[in-house]
Amino acid sequence: MKKEIYVTQPYLPPLEEFIPYLQEIWENKILTNGGPFHNKLELALCEYLGVDQIALFANGTIALVTALQALRITGEVITTPYSFVATSHALLWNGIKPVFVDIDPNTLNLDPTKIEAAITPQTTAILPVHCYGHPCDVEAIQKIADIYNLKIIYDAAHAFGVQNMGDSLLRHGDLSVLSFHATKVFNTFEGGAIVCPDAKTKIRIDQLKNFGHAGEATVVAPGINGKMSEFNAALGLLQLKHIEKALSLRKEIDATYRRLLKDVKGIQCLETAGERVANYAYFPILVEPDYPISRDALYQKFKDVGIQPRRYFYPLISDFPMYRGLSSAHPDKLPIAVAASQKVLCLPIYPALEIAQVENIVRLLVDQ
Ligand SMILES: *Cc1c(COP(=O)(O)O)cnc(C)c1O
Repeated sequence: MKKEIYVTQPYLPPLEEFIPYLQEIWENKILTNGGPFHNKLELALCEYLGVDQIALFANGTIALVTALQALRITGEVITTPYSFVATSHALLWNGIKPVFVDIDPNTLNLDPTKIEAAITPQTTAILPVHCYGHPCDVEAIQKIADIYNLKIIYDAAHAFGVQNMGDSLLRHGDLSVLSFHATKVFNTFEGGAIVCPDAKTKIRIDQLKNFGHAGEATVVAPGINGKMSEFNAALGLLQLKHIEKALSLRKEIDATYRRLLKDVKGIQCLETAGERVANYAYFPILVEPDYPISRDALYQKFKDVGIQPRRYFYPLISDFPMYRGLSSAHPDKLPIAVAASQKVLCLPIYPALEIAQVENIVRLLVDQ
């Protein structure tokens, strides 16, 4: 049977390279709780990403939940409906009310010009997403946060390694949250992290991810278990050795799609806006009304031949039952997000995808 092509395929270094890491874990018998691999990965990631402090987590969702706890966010938080559902779920897990604001039609990120109108006396923070790894308008969002005294937590699950104007995108806002899930650009099977600006914040986050322990007999907060194990941390250190190669393979696929899709009527690629280093995490296209068939018909045609693109992000978060009753969730208030969710299709992109396969995918798009 022909092998299916999925939207992504996890990147795995050669197995034999991982064996020495496992031997070391078996020898020193430290499995978790801030072991040597955990601490080495934190330092290695700070250096690679160009950030000052990082706290590793068991996954990105627990990291998001903990980031909100760390800054003591309450009340209402302004966020985007155009994301993976974990973004808003992290608010509900903290008893916070999400307030959805529409997105920018070019970047598909939270539209800063629409934030102010959604601020109420209960608003305490903004939770934007660097969707597909495209940077949010961080300056505009910071300006609003400064005026209204709001915190900013970026869901940077897609933004590993992205640089904006020569600086790490992850340095913006009060905290940035990463995911190292199997489907992401950099993976530890499961994993995540919070990028924090200073050592004091990292201490609080490290306490929260370890039940609130501040010492052997001291518990200072109702913390959770969000710790990353030595197995996952060791895997991360190995993955980091291969990240440049993985990114350059992704870059070539991205460039091939862009070149071949340039003149296809009704298919729009997202801009690679501004002066930045991208991570080519996703390859979203927008299927416009002048394309011969609908987005969903195209999606089905791909599936019929064993290619599995994904409709990230359809449905919108605001359409799910636990959100749709909110007044900010009404589709009439989110026209750009609704339109994008009906047009978007994320095409396969991952290091092992061959250029010939990319050409086949494009051929199917051209032949409609
Ligand atoms: C993957 C993802 C998450 C969740 O991360 P996990 O590590 O899977 O828990 C959160 N937000 C966005 C935007 C994501 O894509």
